[in-house]
This record gives sequence, structure tokens and C-alpha cells, in this order.
Amino acid sequence: MSAYGLPPLPEAPSPEAVAAVAVALERGGSGVQLLRDPADLARLSTDFHDYSPVLTPLLAGRVAQLVVLASRVDQVMAVAAACADQAVPLTLRGAGTGNYGQCVPLAGGVVLDLSGLQRVRQIDPHSGVLEAEAGCRLADLDRALAPHGRALRLAPSTWRTATLGGFIAGGSGGIGSLRWGFLRDPGNLLGLEVVTVEPQPRLLRLEGDGVQPLNHAYGTNGILTALTVATAAAVPWEQVVIGFSDWEAALEAARDLPATALELDALALLEAPVATALPWPQGCPGPEPGEHRLLLLAAPDALPVLPDWLAHRGGGGRLRWQGAQGRGRGVPLRELTWNHTTLHWRARHPGWTYLQMLLPQPEAALIQAVRERWGDAVLWHLEAVRQSGSARLAALPLVQLATASELDALMAFCRDRGAFIFDPHGLTVEDGGLGVVDADEVAAKLAHDPAGLLNPGKLRGWSER
Ligand code: FAD
Repeated sequence: MSAYGLPPLPEAPSPEAVAAVAVALERGGSGVQLLRDPADLARLSTDFHDYSPVLTPLLAGRVAQLVVLASRVDQVMAVAAACADQAVPLTLRGAGTGNYGQCVPLAGGVVLDLSGLQRVRQIDPHSGVLEAEAGCRLADLDRALAPHGRALRLAPSTWRTATLGGFIAGGSGGIGSLRWGFLRDPGNLLGLEVVTVEPQPRLLRLEGDGVQPLNHAYGTNGILTALTVATAAAVPWEQVVIGFSDWEAALEAARDLPATALELDALALLEAPVATALPWPQGCPGPEPGEHRLLLLAAPDALPVLPDWLAHRGGGGRLRWQGAQGRGRGVPLRELTWNHTTLHWRARHPGWTYLQMLLPQPEAALIQAVRERWGDAVLWHLEAVRQSGSARLAALPLVQLATASELDALMAFCRDRGAFIFDPHGLTVEDGGLGVVDADEVAAKLAHDPAGLLNPGKLRGWSER
């Protein structure tokens, strides 16, 4: 169970200490932009944690006292030094699209917006390895990679807006997870440039295993200024929508497709009521009553095979629409998957929330058991992923439950039946992940942020030390 509640936090710094940070930055001629307007402070102190009825009240009113916009590494070092000198908490921000309040400054202080660090430093022509600054938007990186015939391996459905640093520090996977697993899987993140938070900050370069303690650590143990990631050969993905009237047949197709030799970058399965709520791409017919939908990003050479594959297995799957990614108008299929499904559903049903889990195999029994107990208060949205090398189905079910105890009861029910839960209603790195303290993450914090100023309250292992 997650411990819903605020962790022990340092005192919010005095206005004088924050003012001293601002003076140091202004007098030091760093050229950073400082924002003090209450509307800016509020806007840049929040993210998409309003998906969670547990996090929303917990994080209300948590606002930075100063926002700093940086666009160069030397500016980041100046901010780190000023905050360390004055013992002012420092919370990092990319595009602010996280779902767990990751960039909400729990103890006030400074929010450092890194979205101005936008330089692509290198694309290795031989390996396709990319080194880019933390504030680069993922969509811009794919545009930079395209002339080299390369593309990012993994992207959240917020690909258009999310930053590379924010994705590595706060995300987990998404489009591409069917082929490349999750960000934490060895081989995806290759190197990091990190600024430490000390009176005399150091600029470190980490490689190999050294990157892992900072991978998905919510910016608690180092400021990432540049990242080196492996890329994939670019594929002109086709968007495909398949309709099913029978849920079991749809679920079986979702389970069997990743075991074929068809090249897929994403596969999402939406239960009929969920499909009805989505804004389908222009030209794609809306779902018929009771139609469950399987969404694919498939390589062009998979397309001639799909209709026969569907026909031969029975189950009534029908190809409903197909269109090249990036060419059609309206919402791309990518933005109907992962937490965009939740976004669209909540736009119509604001009282709903969601969960995240890796389903046990076979999946049908758990889904059926939840249906029997919770009925239409839980609607299913599945995503195909590769977990430790094996094809698995993850789920982001939509849930009409509003209290922590109701959500805990559903999570416990699923856990008891073999699901692995990634709780989106917890505040800390540990609660949103494997649930356990990672000693390497804590050791990295001690080495890079000895005074514990970075994103206070988000690393349980540090708070409990
Ligand atoms: P932010 O939200 O700004 O920051 C995220 C975390 O990283 C914070 O803890 C912040 O302090 C830290 N951070 C930011 N920059 C740095 C840095 N330079 N150095 C150190 N720490 C830093 N996530 C997925 O993994 N997969 C999905 O498919 C997905 N879909 C989503 C769909 C929707 C509609 C929404 C709202 C969210 C979704 N997310 C998803 C969550 C989020 O969009 C992604 O994780 C995204 O990559 C975060 O990037 P960001 O730039 O917005 O980071």
C-alpha cells in the first residue's frame, strides 16, 4: 500500500533567503530569467496530477517562491550554487506534463525550468546515438533524427510537448515500449551530464551503470543538463484501427499480435465505452455501438498481412481505418493511447481517475473478476509492452473511485490476483515504481545533493534515512 500523505519536509525557506538567491543570480550576470508574478509561480509549480483525487488535495497550494528559466548549462550551475549557498529547495521542471506532482515544489523555494536547454549536441552517423540537452522536446528530437534515418526508441504520448530530461527523470515508457521495453531497461539511456547542488557545483558525465540511479528519480538526485540515448532505425509507421464486437476475441488478438513477426511500435486495446469517448483521427469512422477497438502503429509491410491474419483466426476483427502517421489531420492515433486515453476520458467524465498495472498472464481472469466486483466503475484500457524481454499486457484502467481507501481496495484486489501495480496516486519515486527503496538512488543524492535540496519529499529512501 502506498502511504498517502505528505512526507516529512524541510521548512519553506524565508523570503530573505529566496531574495538572496535572486540577487546572486542578478548580480552574477548569469542572464537567467526570474519570474515572481504569482500567476507565473502557480503555473510553473504544477503538472497533471489532477488525474488523481488523492494527490490533488495533498498538493494544493504548494507553490514556488521564485521561478528561474535557464537556457545554458553555466546558468544551471549558477542556480545550483545560489540555492546551495542559501539552503533553498530546488525543484526541476521540463514541460510539466508529469502525472504524479513530480515537479510540484513541496517545500516552496525555487523551481528551475530547464525547457530552454534545447541544443542537439550530436547524432552519431554510425550508431545513431543521440546526445541532446535536457530541455529538447521529444518531437523536435525526432525531427532532428529524421534526416539520419533514425527515431527515438521510446516516447510518451505527450511526445509533442514533453522534454527529454523530463521523460528520463519522470516518465517510464510509452510508444515503442512494445519493442524497447521501458526507459530503465539497460541500453536505452547511455549517458548523462549532471550538475550537482553544492556551493561549488560540479559538472559530471555519467555512463554505463552510473546513469541508472538518476533514471526515473524525479530530479531528486542531480540536475540533468544533457542526455545520451540510443535511437532506432526510423519506420514510417501506419496507424491502424481494428474493431471487435467480442471482448475476449479482442483481448486474444492483443495478446497474440506481439508474438507474430509483424513489426509494431504500439498496440492499445480499448473497451467499447472508452472507444466511444475518444476524438478519432479525421477520416476514421467512430465506433459502432459495443465496438471494442485495437489500435496499432504498424510497419507498412505488416499491412498486407493483417486482414488475412484477422480473418484466419476468427473472432470477427475488422480493419476499420488506416492512415500514415504524421500525414493525416486531427488527433494522431498516438494521442489516443497511454495517458492520453485517460485525458480524453476525463474531459467528458471529470470525476474519474485511473490506475497503472502489469497484468498477470493469462489476463482474462483478473479483468473478469474486477468486472464482477466493480461493474462499469472500472473500464479497461490495455497497452502491449515488453517487460524483461517478454511480451506482456499492461493496463491503465479508468476508474470511477474517488477515495484513497476505495483505490487501495481495488489495487489490493488486483495485486492479490497477480497484477503488478505502479500506483499513480503516490507522491514518491518509490510509491510510483517498484515500491521499494533503491539504495543507489539515495547514494546518488548524497553524492550530488548532500544538503537534500533537490525536489524535497519525493525520494522516500532519503526522507527515511
Ligand atoms: P516534467 O513533468 O516537467 O518533469 C517530470 C519529472 O522530471 C519531475 O520530477 C521533474 O522534477 C524532473 N525533471 C524534469 N527535468 C529534469 C532535468 N533536466 N533533470 C532532472 N530532473 C528533471 N509518461 C510516460 O512515461 N509515458 C506516457 O505515455 C505518458 N503519457 C502521458 C499522457 C498525458 C496526457 C499526460 C498528461 C502525461 C503522460 N505521461 C506519460 C507523463 C509525462 O508526460 C511524461 O513522463 C513526460 O515525459 C514528462 O516530461 P516533462 O518534460 O513534462 O517533465
